[in-house]
Amino acid sequence: MNRYFLAIIGGGPAGYTAAEKASKAGKDVVLFEQNAVGGTCLNVGCIPTKSLLYGAKQYYNATHAQKYGVTAENVAFDYAAMQKRKTIVVRKLVAGIKQRLNNGHCTVVNGFAKILESIRQVWRIECNGETYEAENLMICTGSTNFVPPIPGIKDNPAVWDSTDALAATELPESIIIVGGGVIGMEFATLYHELGVPVTVIEAMPTILPNLDPEVVQILLDKYRKAGINILTSTKVESIDGNSVKLSAPELLSTLDSQPSTLSAERILVSVGRRANLQGLEALTDLELNRGAIVIDEFCKTNLPNVYACGDVTGKIMLAHVASRQAEVAVAQLLNDSANDQRVNYLAIPSVVYTNPEIASVGITETQAAEMSIPVEVHQLPMTFSGRFMAENEGETGLCKMVVDAKNHSVLGVHCIGNPCSEFIAAASFAVRMGYTTAEFRQVVFPHPTVSEILHEVL
Ligand code: NAD
Repeated sequence: MNRYFLAIIGGGPAGYTAAEKASKAGKDVVLFEQNAVGGTCLNVGCIPTKSLLYGAKQYYNATHAQKYGVTAENVAFDYAAMQKRKTIVVRKLVAGIKQRLNNGHCTVVNGFAKILESIRQVWRIECNGETYEAENLMICTGSTNFVPPIPGIKDNPAVWDSTDALAATELPESIIIVGGGVIGMEFATLYHELGVPVTVIEAMPTILPNLDPEVVQILLDKYRKAGINILTSTKVESIDGNSVKLSAPELLSTLDSQPSTLSAERILVSVGRRANLQGLEALTDLELNRGAIVIDEFCKTNLPNVYACGDVTGKIMLAHVASRQAEVAVAQLLNDSANDQRVNYLAIPSVVYTNPEIASVGITETQAAEMSIPVEVHQLPMTFSGRFMAENEGETGLCKMVVDAKNHSVLGVHCIGNPCSEFIAAASFAVRMGYTTAEFRQVVFPHPTVSEILHEVL
C-alpha cells in the first residue's frame, strides 16, 4: 500500500503548484494526472492559443505595416508550421513542470484516479488498478467544455470545441463562433488575422459581457469595421450540418441584411466550461453549488482534510486563480501561520488576448453599483501615452480606473490597448494592497512606456 501526506487529483496549474509547494516542504505527495501535466491551460488552453495568436499577429502586422512606412511583398504563412511550433512550446513547458516535480518527494501517477472512501480519516484512491492512501486530499480536476443542449451539435463533424480548433492542422475556409466570451473572441482574432471569414454569435446584448462595456465597445467597433460579423442578442436554435439556424428573429429583423440561417465550414462552440467532477462520485456528502465544489477562503471543502482548487471550484476559471488557491491551500495544510494566506478574489487580473488586448483587475462601475459602493471613475484614452502613440498607429484604447468615492482607494482598472496585458500587474498590486490614489501616485513608472497611463489616469 502506498501512503502519502497529500494526494492531489489533477495536474493542471492548481495541482502541479500544490504538488510542488508541498513536496518542496518535505511532504510526501502523490499527484494523479490522466493526460499530460500542465492541464487545460498548458496543453489545450492558454499556452497553445497564445502561441498560435502570436504567429497570426506576426502575419497580420507584416501585412498591415504600411502605416509605419514599411511594405512587405509576398508575405505568406504556413499554418501547419505555426501548429508545429505551438506543439514544441507546449512540450518544452510540460517537460519543465515534470522537472520541477522531480524533487524526491513527489510521485506523479499517469492515469484516471477515483476516490474510493475514507477510513479512519485516511483517504483511499484507486488508479491503474492500484490503491493509494493519503491523510489529505486536494481536488484539482479542472473543467470541461460545456456542450449546450442545441439540437444538431452532438456527433456533428462540422462542430468544433476549442480543443478541436487547437488541434486542426488546417485552417477552416470560414467559421461561425457560437459564444462571444473569452475563448470565442480569442479564436475570432486568430482566424480573422489569418484571413478566415468569421461570424460570432453571442446570446447576450454584448460580447465579453462581464467586462467594462466602454472597453468592450472599442473592440466591437474595431472588429466590426475590420469585417468580423458579430451578432449580439442572438441565439442558435439548431445546427444542421454546417448551417446554424438563428433564433430571436425579431432582433435579427433590425439587422436588415442578416439571414436567419448562416453557414460556414466549421462551427466553434465556446459557451463556457463546467467543473469536472469525474472520479469524485464516492464523495456523496461533498457540498456543491451549481455543479462546482464549494470552498471557503482557505480552499477547504465541507469534508475533513479535503481541499479543492482551480476551475472545479467554479470561482474564477483562470490558471492564475488556480495556482493562487493552491498556494493558499498548501499554506493551510502546512500550518504556515506566518502568512495569513487567503485568496482575494477582488484583486484578480484577467486578460483577453484580442488585438488590441483587454486587461482588467478589480470591480467595474457596474459591479460597484451592484455592491452599493459609491465610486468615482477616472479615465483617459491610451493616446495620452507617448509610447502608445509611437507604436499603435490609428488605434485609440482606453484606461479606466474605478476609485472608492469615500476613501479614494483603487478598486478596479480596465484597459484596452496593446500591451496592457503586460502592465495590469501594477494595477493588481494597487488593488490588492488597497492603495489610495495618493499612494499610487507616488509610484514612478518608466518613460516612455504604455504603463504610464496608470499614472496619468490618477
Ligand atoms: P465565457 O463564459 O467567457 O463566454 C461564453 C459566452 O457564450 C458568454 O458571453 C455567453 O453569453 C455566451 N453564450 C452562452 N450560451 C450561448 C448560446 N447558446 N448562444 C450564443 N452565446 C452563448 O466562456 P468561454 O469563452 O467558453 O471560456 C471558458 C473559461 O475559460 C472562462 O472562464 C474564461 O475566463 C476562461 N478562459 C480564459 C482565457 C484568458 O484568460 N485569456 C482564455 C480562454 C478561456
